[in-house]
Amino acid sequence: MAHFFSFAKTALKNLFSKPATTAYPDAPVDYPARSRGHIDIDIDQCISCSLCVRNCPTECLAVDKNAGTWTINRFDCIVCGYCTVNCPKHCLKVVKGYQQPGPEKKAVTYQKSPEVMAAEKAKKAALAKKKAEALKKAQAAKEAQAQQKEGD
Ligand code: SF4
Ligand code: SF4
Repeated sequence: MAHFFSFAKTALKNLFSKPATTAYPDAPVDYPARSRGHIDIDIDQCISCSLCVRNCPTECLAVDKNAGTWTINRFDCIVCGYCTVNCPKHCLKVVKGYQQPGPEKKAVTYQKSPEVMAAEKAKKAALAKKKAEALKKAQAAKEAQAQQKEGD
């Protein structure tokens, strides 16, 4: 009889309390506070230094400076967070939530915005111009020095 009352108590409690399960995928997932989730990037802050690539223990990252892309193979990422610690621009972070399920194992590529690409190109061109001018100046000074020596 004692077992029956215990069972009835549990059954009644479960009937009137919130279910322990959720209606995922209809209801959003409530991830635990310290769940690792996945790596996210603020791609327009990335300077394509490749430090994250060099520090990744599973070699799941790739950076293409010329194309302005950052690629991650999420199937190989162990979400250790080393890349976030080593990024000088702090543009990588571990965020809650897991990757979307899919039929194929493919890497995800993030592309810098056209505005950022144009700004980087302009900066590169300005730097190259400055370098060429400095080189020209140094060459002219060298030639002037040589001419002066010949005159002496
Ligand atoms: S979290 Fe770890 S494994 Fe994943 S990309 Fe960053 S360094 Fe690589
Ligand atoms: S370390 Fe940061 S800034 Fe450098 S390539 Fe990786 S994401 Fe970009």
